[in-house]
Formats: sequence, structure tokens, C-alpha cells
Amino acid sequence: MLTLENLSKHFGGVRAVDDVSLTISEGEIFGLIGPNGSGKSTIINLITGLYVPTAGKVTLDGWDLTAMAQHERTSVGVARTFQNIRLFGNLSVAQNLWVAQNGHEQRRAHFLSRWFKAGGEHAPDVEELLRFSQLHSKRDVQASALSFGEMRRLEMARALASNPRVLLLDEPAAGASLEDGQLLAERIRAVRDRGVTVLLIEHMMELVMGITDRIAVLNFGRKIAEGSPTEVQANEDVRAAYLGS
Ligand code: ADP
Ligand code: MG
Repeated sequence: MLTLENLSKHFGGVRAVDDVSLTISEGEIFGLIGPNGSGKSTIINLITGLYVPTAGKVTLDGWDLTAMAQHERTSVGVARTFQNIRLFGNLSVAQNLWVAQNGHEQRRAHFLSRWFKAGGEHAPDVEELLRFSQLHSKRDVQASALSFGEMRRLEMARALASNPRVLLLDEPAAGASLEDGQLLAERIRAVRDRGVTVLLIEHMMELVMGITDRIAVLNFGRKIAEGSPTEVQANEDVRAAYLGS
């Protein structure tokens, strides 16, 4: 469904992503792991169009995403979360979702307040997302006043608000407790069960090994292994890459 074909991204002399090919099947939870700086976030940035590849391409159902602008990729069903949370801190939880749902991301937050007064944020999908993300009691709280875990939940809910087919999660459990990680795992499974394909970048190994169908491992921008969680854990090159970092 989602394929990376000989994808490369160089920054000057740094080969952040170096000739990576991957195929992610529909309905799969696919893990992407590797030491810090191995190119994981760069791959998400290439899929969403934040970066232009040095070589290679990304396709969705055979369509060349690399020829599309970022907003077009959103409209064909690609959504992401950021490793460093990006929310509209001065808007409420519900307003953050409403903005994402209506594709007004590009507009400045301070232009939006008058639209909220017209009642647009009461769309039912937003209510459903609030419940799903266990943020219902916080619907009118400013995003900047949320706890870290709540911000992470809102970040994922925002990505879901665009009704994606593919959800790219960049370290969604970073800074979270093991318990929060388990709740996150349940939510990721629930997302997949609704038919969304998930690409999960994550450091919390319990989470990655527990919920992914397949995993690819990066080291210095190159794919060094791919397989089931059990296969990847037993791989000597993978062990060496993690011990060496
Ligand atoms: P990971 O997410 O696996 O930790 P990244 O994809 O963020 O790794 O980074 C891979 C490499 O590319 C690193 O060496 C990083 O410094 C470099 N890199 C990433 N983005 C940029 C950029 N915008 N400009 C220059 N170098 C970058
Ligand atoms: Mg990263």
C-alpha cells in the first residue's frame, strides 16, 4: 500500500536516509526503529513532503506521493504526529481538533477565534475523537495547560481528525510512563482496527515489540534488518547497532 522505493535524503555530506526500500501493507502496524540519528524522522518527513528526497520515491496505492504538495498528501490520507509536539497552545483541546479536521492548519490561530464563535467546533467527529482520546473532560481547556501525556493524546487525535488512511507516529510514547505506553498501545490497536495503516517510530521497546506486525531497523540511514518482532530481536546486526550507539 505504502512503498518507499530506493529513497535517499542527503544533507550536505550526511546521508540521513540512504537507499531505503520498504513496503507497508494495508491494515498493518509497521515499526520503524533504530538508534538516534539513524534517519527515522527524516523518513516520515519524506513521506509527508516536509523534505524533498535526494533520490527515490514514495507511493500510496501506486500513486506517486513525491510529486504532491504536503496538503495534497493529507487529502489522499497521510497524517502524522511530530516527535516534538506541535499544538495550538492558545486554543482549546476541541478547537485544536476542529482546526485539524477542517484542514485549516495553515491559517494563523488568531484568525480562527471568530469561526469558533459560529459554533463550528461542535461537529460530531470531534466529540468522538475526544472520547476516543480520553480528553472529553478537557474539551474546553487550553492546549498549553494540558499535562504532557494529554498533549501527546491530543497530538494523535489531531492526526486522526483528518480521517487518514495511513498514520505516521513519530515517538508517540516519548516521555511517557510504561502505563501511558500501554494505554497508547490500546489506542494504536483501536486505530488499526478501524482500518488505518500505522507506521510507528518508537523507542519504548515493550510497545514496539508488543504491537507491531513487522519491523524495519535503520542504522546510519540504511535499512539493516526487516522482519517480525521476534526475528528482528534475534538479529545480530540489530544488537550490534544498539550496543554501539
Ligand atoms: P532519527 O529520527 O532516527 O533520530 P533523524 O531522521 O532526525 O534521525 O536524523 C538523521 C540524520 O539526519 C541525523 O544525522 C540528523 O542530524 C540529520 N538531519 C535531519 N534533519 C536534518 C536537517 N533538516 N538538516 C540537516 N541535517 C539533518
Ligand atoms: Mg527522530
